Amino acid sequence: MTKAKPHCAWVVALVACIPVPATAFGQTTATERAAAAEILEQIADLQERLDPLDRAQRIVRQGNRNRVRVMDRAESEWDEGLQDLSDWIAANPEVGWDEHMAVDTLTKVLRSRGWEVTTGVAGLETAFVASWDSPAGQGEVTLGLIGEYDALRDIDGPFHGDQHNAQTPIAMAAAFALQEHLASAGVAGGLRLYGTPAEEVGPPAKTIMHQAGVFSEADILIRSHSSVATARARAGFGVCCLNINEVKYTFLGRPSHQLTSWNGRNALEAAVMFYTAVDRLRSTFRPEASIQGVIPEGGVAPNVVPARAVVDYYIRYPDEVYLEHMNRMIDDAARGAAMATGTRVEIDRYGEYRDGITLGTLEELYFAYAQALDAPGIEPELQRPAGYEETGWVTRDIPGVGVSVYSSRGSYHTKGMAEDASSEVGHAGFRTDARIMAAILFDFLTNRDLRDAVAEEHSTLKGLLGEYHERLRETYAQEISRIPVGGS
Ligand SMILES: [Zn+2]
Repeated sequence: MTKAKPHCAWVVALVACIPVPATAFGQTTATERAAAAEILEQIADLQERLDPLDRAQRIVRQGNRNRVRVMDRAESEWDEGLQDLSDWIAANPEVGWDEHMAVDTLTKVLRSRGWEVTTGVAGLETAFVASWDSPAGQGEVTLGLIGEYDALRDIDGPFHGDQHNAQTPIAMAAAFALQEHLASAGVAGGLRLYGTPAEEVGPPAKTIMHQAGVFSEADILIRSHSSVATARARAGFGVCCLNINEVKYTFLGRPSHQLTSWNGRNALEAAVMFYTAVDRLRSTFRPEASIQGVIPEGGVAPNVVPARAVVDYYIRYPDEVYLEHMNRMIDDAARGAAMATGTRVEIDRYGEYRDGITLGTLEELYFAYAQALDAPGIEPELQRPAGYEETGWVTRDIPGVGVSVYSSRGSYHTKGMAEDASSEVGHAGFRTDARIMAAILFDFLTNRDLRDAVAEEHSTLKGLLGEYHERLRETYAQEISRIPVGGS
């Protein structure tokens, strides 16, 4: 059994992550695999044509003094300050949406190195964009790096059990190395470092930032993540866990004293009826469906008819086409409950996680560097494609890669992983992440052939993802059709 490649729809670990069986392909069910059969062949043809493994090995073998200098610089940046910063964030953990000290500290360092920083982007207080353009101009290529900094929640306080403390310092080590290269060589190029909050809890910050156009300048995005193995993913599309819709249903009634309850309209009863109706739907959905809900608001006092009640659901399925069908039926159940109780319902789909696109050209390049640098914990087997960030959405529009060198002996979201974050096993992994990220960004900046291959692979896979969804819609057509209303 292979390990799922890390990236954090471990997000989702607290809120949303249900691991699905780790198959090498992105598809989970027999229906999905049948719908994807021809598309998987086309992906295999694309890989054969682009030959990412051979290309990556050729690139890594090429001696390039500038690249060696950039990689060494990333390492010295890590060793001479950024590792301490990573340890400091580990010692001062803050949970998602509350990462103020981390953001203040990180942005202070970025500003001190001549970066222009905008905080509160996309309306998110702890999101930021740091920009630096070469004195020779932004040029044709803008390199993007993603950083995170949120900690996990535990009963005795927050802790960095997923090692997000290291992510932004690692990105900074790579970014500062490229900055130094661009400035000293007089080469054009832009650098963007994106501070992304709350990876572990919804709503999905990266989707919100993407929809607000925050990442639009980047030609490539790169991120690191803690890992229990140094592994790379197979090209294609998939998601670490499941496609997810986060949906809030707010029932609105009319308050009244319970002794004259006939004057009111009971929103809690609507919510309970809805919650029960969703349970009645479970046997109507395919067995891979997963639905969990809570009723976070259900009234204020027993002697007042509740005028407001909220039901919050995470609705999940391995593919987004069937997920939409489930979501539609659940929305209908909410409307039905509202109608039955004389209340009304407001439906707010506040979060979505979707299949991401994984590029062989960049995965193999990362892995070739990891092998060349003797990274620990090398796992030669290709992992399931999952996209390089947990929401999937960003990966559909911007090519990118996640670099995840072995950094912990424990498993994800544990105190052991938190301890490793500030010990040699973590430090060594993070240092190697920084070197590899610097090398990949250097190659992307300087190697047009690589950029063209990445662009071709990305646009082809994006097209194939659309075709896959079309096939799924055809496959499910009969099964998910509505019974005609008013028929005989
Ligand atoms: Zn994570």
